[in-house]
Amino acid sequence: MATQAVREWLGIQQFPVATQNKLHEYLGKLKQENVNTLTILVMGKGGVGKSSTVNSIIGERVAAVSAFQSEVLRPVICSRSRAEFTLNIIDTPGIVEGGYVNEQALEVIKRSLLDKTIDILLYVDRLDAYRVDTLDRQVIKAITDTFGKGIWQRGLIVLTHAQLSPPDGLSYEDFFAKRSEALLKYIRLGARIKKQEFQENSIPVVLVENSGRCKTDDNGEKVLPNGIAWLPNLVKTITDVIMNGGKSILVDQKLIDGPNPNDRGKFFIPLILAFQYFFVVKRIQGAIKRDIAKESKPLWELRDMGLANRQF
Ligand code: GDP
Ligand code: MG
Repeated sequence: MATQAVREWLGIQQFPVATQNKLHEYLGKLKQENVNTLTILVMGKGGVGKSSTVNSIIGERVAAVSAFQSEVLRPVICSRSRAEFTLNIIDTPGIVEGGYVNEQALEVIKRSLLDKTIDILLYVDRLDAYRVDTLDRQVIKAITDTFGKGIWQRGLIVLTHAQLSPPDGLSYEDFFAKRSEALLKYIRLGARIKKQEFQENSIPVVLVENSGRCKTDDNGEKVLPNGIAWLPNLVKTITDVIMNGGKSILVDQKLIDGPNPNDRGKFFIPLILAFQYFFVVKRIQGAIKRDIAKESKPLWELRDMGLANRQF
């Protein structure tokens, strides 16, 4: 992985004071909970705004942004520290190619994360995409199969291009609600999470506008059409997800080499063992016993057993 040394987080000083104050407040809360490091993995299809979101959070141009093809072929980790708090953000290449999930790209991502702990997954898509289809479901399934279902307990959905005027006279809130609902449904299906379980721990959906032309409020903070200053809101939601529990995902050798971390087949293991015992081992044992019983013993053996005389 293209790793950069941990540097002082200078980008934060580029933010308006109001944003800086809020970020310090949220990161301070994490530190109170003994969370001194936060590693954020950013994933999604190509061109949805992953790299731009990384740059927006850090406040520096650390990841290559491209209007056409993604320039990053491997994950890029960017580390910044501030007041004894370390923020690591991992930007990844899009994992879709020619309309399919590129399993090899996912494998490269997973391997390059060896020994890293993922605290948060940002699943990025665009707010102004009007449909969700089986490809989205496949992308979500591939992420789930790679890191395990548990990653969604530490997941957030990030919708970029959030400064938009909804079509068809829909209100902004309604449009956002509809888009979130459609995506969340596909996440539930792709990650094979039970409906009830999903409703109880719903995955937050946050809005992001990476454009330099994003509106600002009186404090200079970048705000969305709904008036929310999106960067502090994103960091606050990340903090809430951490506080709500769930487990960070350690990418160890087992996760890399192992089968699907969701152990889909584990239910069958005892059944297969029982089947093997009763139908294979028992049968062979029976056959051996019968064979021994049937065996015509040589004369000398019968003699030793004291049977020879009776036979003759
Ligand atoms: P990635 O392939 O997912 O990393 O996407 P990039 O960050 O490279 O962005 C792809 C294109 O979308 C670039 O031209 C960005 O400038 C643009 N872009 C990304 N996020 C936003 C956003 O929130 N609003 C607008 N208007 N453009 C964006
Ligand atoms: Mg990118």
